[in-house]
Amino acid sequence: MSGVAKTGGPEDAVAAAGDLVVLSGVNKHFGALHVLQNIDLTIERGEVVVVIGPSGSGKSTLCRTINRLETIDSGEISIDGKPLPQEGKELARLRADVGMVFQSFNLFAHRTVLENVMLGQVKVRRKEKAAAEQHARKLLDRVGVGSQCDKYPAQLSGGQQQRVAIARALAMDPKVILFDEPTSALDPEMINEVLEVMQQLARDGMTMVVVTHEMGFARSAANRVVFMADGRIVEEATPEEFFNNPRSDRAKDFLSKIL
Ligand code: ADP
Ligand code: MG
Repeated sequence: MSGVAKTGGPEDAVAAAGDLVVLSGVNKHFGALHVLQNIDLTIERGEVVVVIGPSGSGKSTLCRTINRLETIDSGEISIDGKPLPQEGKELARLRADVGMVFQSFNLFAHRTVLENVMLGQVKVRRKEKAAAEQHARKLLDRVGVGSQCDKYPAQLSGGQQQRVAIARALAMDPKVILFDEPTSALDPEMINEVLEVMQQLARDGMTMVVVTHEMGFARSAANRVVFMADGRIVEEATPEEFFNNPRSDRAKDFLSKIL
């Protein structure tokens, strides 16, 4: 943990009852590039953790390792007390507990909005179609696109598509949702409608990891800010501490450029 200015959370690595996602000593290389360097990170149930840092610092890779879209070279990741295996049925089960919302929406283009939100429930969660449809309609209402059920993704605005993607993630009843720059591909006027849905989820107690450059969201919704640079967690703090009194030169430099 050398060089880490840690100002929030318990110092010991013993798994507590509230720990939902635990990364310990996680390392990942892309060839010669050491993209994740000894990452220790614990996310508690109900916590909203905002991950920020310069481009290329490893934020997306961090998210992708949490649901094994990327393998890791060493270390361990556990979800709700269960270690993530490299492959197999148990991996599929654990992965279903981790929702993911991407910058580029990634909806199925040839499925309607309703089908997009039903598919995982039927195929992965093995729900009856009628129950899946009912759940999907409820969630689409909740994110404000209930009237768009029969349209195809391309017929929706970017903000609407991203809200469908959030409904699709929610439909799996995940234990945690990872958001990787969910508003970065949106036109400015659509950013708030997506952030508002995310704010509401946070208030409802959803456990969330959010990679974002939206500092207003970080200030108002985050329980904790994790600042990454060069594949390391450089600083962890509450939003107040981080924005008002960043400790590391890297964080000061980063904040001076974006605020
Ligand atoms: P961030 O999301 O913080 O911008 P990334 O996690 O996307 O950073 O990338 C971290 C570093 O790893 C970057 O230098 C990027 O070019 C590199 N990288 C990401 N994905 C791959 C990949 N599949 N193969 C090789 N290098 C990659
Ligand atoms: Mg990224």
